Amino acid sequence: MPLKTVTINEHGAARLRAGHPWVYRSDVLGKEDHGALAALQGVRPGTAVRLEDRRGRALGVADFSPHSQICLRLLSRDPAARIDDTFLREQMQRALQWRRHWIRNTDAYRLIWGEADGLPGLVVDRYGDKLVLQTLTPAMEARLPVLQELLREMVQPSAIVERNDARVRTLELLELRSRLVHGTEAIAEVQIDGIAYRLDLLAGQKTGAFLDQRENWAAVPRFLPVMPGGERPRVLDVFTYQGGFALQLARAGAYVEAVDLSRAALELADSNAQRNGLEVNWIEANAFDLLREYDQQGRSFDLIVLDPPAFAKSRGALESAERGYKEINLRALKMLRPGGVLVTCSCSHHLSEARLLAILAEAALDAHRTVTILERRGQSLDHPVLLTVPETHYLKCILARIE
Ligand code: SAH
Repeated sequence: MPLKTVTINEHGAARLRAGHPWVYRSDVLGKEDHGALAALQGVRPGTAVRLEDRRGRALGVADFSPHSQICLRLLSRDPAARIDDTFLREQMQRALQWRRHWIRNTDAYRLIWGEADGLPGLVVDRYGDKLVLQTLTPAMEARLPVLQELLREMVQPSAIVERNDARVRTLELLELRSRLVHGTEAIAEVQIDGIAYRLDLLAGQKTGAFLDQRENWAAVPRFLPVMPGGERPRVLDVFTYQGGFALQLARAGAYVEAVDLSRAALELADSNAQRNGLEVNWIEANAFDLLREYDQQGRSFDLIVLDPPAFAKSRGALESAERGYKEINLRALKMLRPGGVLVTCSCSHHLSEARLLAILAEAALDAHRTVTILERRGQSLDHPVLLTVPETHYLKCILARIE
């Protein structure tokens, strides 16, 4: 059956031509195009549609989302592309293949990341011999059975966990649920850069771990300040979750205090520390309160990691988010000894790296400290940044030396 065709206005077409895969609802319902969206309502989720501009020029083939503001997501720029099992298999193979070559020293990483891998709405993470799957659009949701089948054929996992409890699904009016869909065991044992972890794939935040920070966990220990007389450097890991940074820094010989609000996360972190014979001082507290208290007590550290949750979940929340980033960075700067290192992160894509650096500069001026940038990092390689899709570059991780 021929695909339904939908006409996109100039604005939407220009966006697609500039390399972005999304079309917003407002760009389908152009003035002369009343009813274009209505015509799509009959399209079964998972059936792709053809896109063209007002002059009838083909733009490609896309998935349709009946409820979200992002109502079309490009799958292929080839107007004749057939979105069938073969198409899905090829896209998945491509995503899996380059990661097999380039991802090192870990058996936990993201295998497929939505738009960045040409499969909008699909996320698949590997945790050892187990997989975690998320389908974030109605179209990918409709393909769940075939996606599972393809994954079993390509990866032969011992278990597949469906973590469809991500909040973004509510924008698509999809229900939230987590369940084991293949196998019997949702606890994974993985090795990430020399550290053994036991992770609960059904209960953890995200899909079990913040895999996007994985390469940063391994990169930071190199910047531990060299201490006079063999003293152990003192580290504060703020927003530690399951101790991604803390465990690597403890392994490198630092004395580490690690803070989080979530007791469940800290318990898992502690059991992973014990599994590796590492010692970390886990502190269950609100980071804002603890930083204020430590600052007032005149505590000092040689390296501080700040990895807060996304304070700016929307553009509108940016102003108060910036105040939050400024506050934690200012406190950290005041507590670092001369020659100390600050690792400051933001996973809000609304907050650009330039803004994060500007906030850090403001905090440095207020704290009367001189800041030298050592390294500007981003998310791990398995979460690739698409040059023409700014939303795919969301994690910033700045390493700086503080005088
Ligand atoms: N650094 C971690 C990821 C941190 S995610 C890693 O690399 O794996 C953000 C963490 O901040 C979550 O674990 C969440 O529980 C915690 N959190 C959120 N608000 C907090 C607050 N006000 N004080 C302390 N922890 C908080």
